[in-house]
Amino acid sequence: MTAAVKAQKYEAREWLLAHVSYTGDDCLIWPFSRDPYYGRGRIGAMNGSKKMFWAHRMMCELVNGPPPSPAHQAAHECGKGHEGCVNPRHLSWKTQSGNALDRLRHGHRMGNRRGNKTRFTANQIEELRADLAAGRTTVALAAKYKVARSVITFWKGKFKKNPTYTPPQPKGASLHSCGKWQAKIRVDGKFYHLGLYETFEEANQAFIAARARKDAGLPIRG
Ligand SMILES: [Zn+2]
Repeated sequence: MTAAVKAQKYEAREWLLAHVSYTGDDCLIWPFSRDPYYGRGRIGAMNGSKKMFWAHRMMCELVNGPPPSPAHQAAHECGKGHEGCVNPRHLSWKTQSGNALDRLRHGHRMGNRRGNKTRFTANQIEELRADLAAGRTTVALAAKYKVARSVITFWKGKFKKNPTYTPPQPKGASLHSCGKWQAKIRVDGKFYHLGLYETFEEANQAFIAARARKDAGLPIRG
């Protein structure tokens, strides 16, 4: 390990320790090296090995103590882990299914790098449309959205055919004859009713929560 590398690692570590008591509500973005795929901050080992640690995980451990079990992950309540957030107040230990539920709630469940063309949220589709109109390259956009280039090519083709394409509304809620919104989900061909709500948003939230439970292999009604 050269002196320069060592100094850099030391600086990153000092920065982490200096921000353990950070009290801001905004996301605190890791100013050092970040993983090009996951966007999360990295911090090198001090012993000269090439091993890298996740900066947010180290921060979580500094604030909340060690993980309660090996299955626990350092989860972001802000959903901005992919932007490199290490705000100590946004981090807590969660099990993988709890963390997966959070990611789904934050709309970040991009999953499979090769597929999931339709997993872009409505906002991401708007952003992508603007990026393409601004002439950004497929390679740059694949890196930005953390998907394969084929996914960007898919959307390019879609916008070429229909420049104003908007995704269909999720079918998790429908207007009931009583005037309220009814949430429901289909699992193995069977519909589960999730209740009646005043607004589409509320009903859709119920649907999203149920879909997360379904994806996590949990019973629909907890
Ligand atoms: Zn944050």
